[in-house]
Amino acid sequence: MCHCVNIEMGSYENQTVLDYPKWFVSGKKAAGIDNCILEEIKGLWEKGIQTTESCCGHNKAPGYISVLPEYIPAMMELGYKHLVIPEMANICSLWDENGFRADTFEPKYSAPLSSDPSKQEPHNQSQQD
Ligand SMILES: [Zn+2]
Repeated sequence: MCHCVNIEMGSYENQTVLDYPKWFVSGKKAAGIDNCILEEIKGLWEKGIQTTESCCGHNKAPGYISVLPEYIPAMMELGYKHLVIPEMANICSLWDENGFRADTFEPKYSAPLSSDPSKQEPHNQSQQD
């Protein structure tokens, strides 16, 4: 979950409008990105991944990041996990009956912003005997 406080779903508060990179294949030139995932989205663009939709969830719902289908493997290589949102099941044709979307991933923001990154457990150290 993210760090929004009192942001209504569907609102454009706590967003920053970013111009799309020139290489984006899109009818739009810019999009409002939720601030909670702004740096993450910018990072994906820098890696050459075109996102199509994203929402931080405003601390009320799971956030998500959707990409063009050709970038699904790149997202998986980056360690992104597919997102299953049962509440979205059959809400529209983009989501299947289980609330799964092949092009949609869980943002990595889950570590609280307030925590000091230097105090976080390294992820690459497994338990050793
Ligand atoms: Zn948020």
